[in-house]
Order: sequence, then structure tokens, then C-alpha cells
Amino acid sequence: MNRPPIDLRSDTVTRPTPGMRKAMAEAEVGDDVFGEDPTVHALEARTAELLGKEAAVFVPSGTMANQIAVGVHTRPGDELLCATTSHVYVWEAGGIARLSGVTARTFEGDFGLLSLGEIKDAIRPDDIHYVRTRLVWLENTQNRGGGRIHPIEGIAAIRQWARENRLAIHLDGARLMNAVVATGRPAREWAQHFDTVSICFSKGLGAPIGSALAGSAEAIRHARRLRKVFGGGMRQAGIVAAAALYALEHNVERLAEDHAGAQVLAEAFQNTEGFALESGPVETNLVWVRVDPTLGSAAEVVAYLRTRGILVAALGSQVIRACTHLDLTRQDIAYAASVIRQVEPAMITAVTLVY
Ligand SMILES: *Cc1c(COP(=O)(O)O)cnc(C)c1O
Repeated sequence: MNRPPIDLRSDTVTRPTPGMRKAMAEAEVGDDVFGEDPTVHALEARTAELLGKEAAVFVPSGTMANQIAVGVHTRPGDELLCATTSHVYVWEAGGIARLSGVTARTFEGDFGLLSLGEIKDAIRPDDIHYVRTRLVWLENTQNRGGGRIHPIEGIAAIRQWARENRLAIHLDGARLMNAVVATGRPAREWAQHFDTVSICFSKGLGAPIGSALAGSAEAIRHARRLRKVFGGGMRQAGIVAAAALYALEHNVERLAEDHAGAQVLAEAFQNTEGFALESGPVETNLVWVRVDPTLGSAAEVVAYLRTRGILVAALGSQVIRACTHLDLTRQDIAYAASVIRQVEPAMITAVTLVY
């Protein structure tokens, strides 16, 4: 097999296309820490408009956007409410504790999709024994929840309750544009229910670097200071902001192709003995799969698929994830699906013996 591997590990593995690289090469730039980069300004204005917010700030990563949001809404000793599986809790190296001195109260949700019923009694009493419950944290689409879309009615109900109880509410919208394309509901319709929203340009949108945090002018002023504190003030950042602008221009509608590809992979896993979809029907570009021990471990399945030129991620002893993205062709997906359909315990064992 001489073809390059088909990389389904993440939607972050994409490389900038020639068009995107051209936009980067030609970007007008200046020192953004001095507020002098016109391309960064354009991206921030475009992002604020997209999300219906007063302002936005460009940052190097989704993790930084989230961590800044925690810092904007809390003081040390505060608490945020989030899903057990949320990125901010699982995959940001304990940043909420290290950077903002904040604790988390976690909820299972429906594969990480929280409901008002589950969290409405979680606000701690105003009493010296307790942390101050301060921030509600939702994620859409929910990565560890199988890329599921948070129903907007549920979001609106939580928003209403948060407002009544003077809690801030943030959306980790790393893949918000996937939810937008899958539902046809504009980004600002989702974003209106949140005080701040983070989005990633470096996931399905295909930019090499960059995320943004949007919110009120006041929140974003605060966020700019925290970005400096966290080391995210960048100089001629227009070089990368240009890629993000290009991505917003060219790579949003095409997310539908990623979703269609994910359906093909989901169907292949579902129809193959030993695999089961982890969180019900696939709604966007992430396919989380549980591997039955009779087939082998997640690591063994990953090793086998690698021998067939397919890369997937092991994200638990019996859990794998396959993602679709813009560097895959329809043929890549069809080939991957055909290999998945052929998987049998004997093949997995044969590969494992080699190790
Ligand atoms: C990837 C991701 C992030 C963080 O983005 P990075 O740019 O990798 O730091 C945040 N939230 C979710 C849901 C993600 O999937």
C-alpha cells in the first residue's frame, strides 16, 4: 500500500491549501500588540459580526480562548458548571485551576449535553463554606459526546435560568460552525444565548492556527489583557488571521461534505461486528466508536488500521475516534469505510502478534 495514510485522527490535521497560503502570503500586517495589524482587525470584526457580538479577540488556540473566558467571568475561588466530558475540564491540563483558581462542578448530561433539570439546583448557597457558583459552560458541538449538537431550546432555557441567577454563560464553540451547517441555524442565533463564545479556525475550517473569543466590548477589553498575561499577544499575526478569514470565506458551507463523510464512516462501523457508535446517531463530523473487547483493544484496532493506511485515534482503552475534514476525498472515505467493514477479530490479533 503506497498511498499516504488517510488521517482520520482529528480535524486539526489539515494543511493550508494553495489559496489559503496565497492569502497568508499577501496579508497586510502590523504589530497587533500595538493594535496595528489590519488583517487581525478585519478578522476580529468579521468574527464579532458572525456571532452577533460587540467585539472579538484573535488568540492562538481554542484552549487559550476558553481559558481567557474563564478568567473574564470568574475570580479565584469561584466555580463553573460544566459537563464531565467538556474540553475545558478534560483536555486543558487543569488550566481553570492553574490560571484562574477556579473549581469545576461536573455533570454527565446526555453525552455531555446539559439540561436545565440537571443543573438547576447546583448553585451553591451564599454561605462562607462554599465556593461562589459563577459560570455555566456549554460546548457545541460536544466533542466527547460524539460531535452532537446541543438543542437550541435547551440552551435558551439554561440561558434564561443563568440570567435569573446572575451566572455568566460561555459557549465553547470550537466546532460551532459544524452545528451551523448541520442545522441551517446561523451562528448568531446560537451565540445570542451566551455572554462569550469561542470558535476555532483550526478545526474543520482548515486554518493552520487560531481561534477567537467574542462578547461584549467590556468582556473583550478584559480578554485582551488576559491574552497578554497568558502569553498570547502576537505581533504580525495578520499572517495567520488571513488564513482564518480565508477559512470563513471558503470553508464553511463545505462542512456539509465532512458531515456526509462521517455518515459513511458511521454506517461502516455500525454494520461491523465489534464496533458500536458511542453516543447514538452521528450528527456532524466526529465518529466516536466503542470497540468490543472480543475484537480487541482500541490500541490494537488503531494498530491494525494503520497497517491498512488508515489513522484513527485511540481515546480510551475501548474507544476510538474518526474525524472527517477538508483534506479527505470521497475516495479516501470510501476506502476507509471498506476497510472498516472487513475488520474481524483474527486480523486484529494477527497485527498485535507482530508487536
Ligand atoms: C479542539 C477543541 C478546543 C481547543 O482548541 P485548541 O486550538 O486545540 O486549543 C476547545 N474545545 C473543543 C470542544 C475542542 O474540540
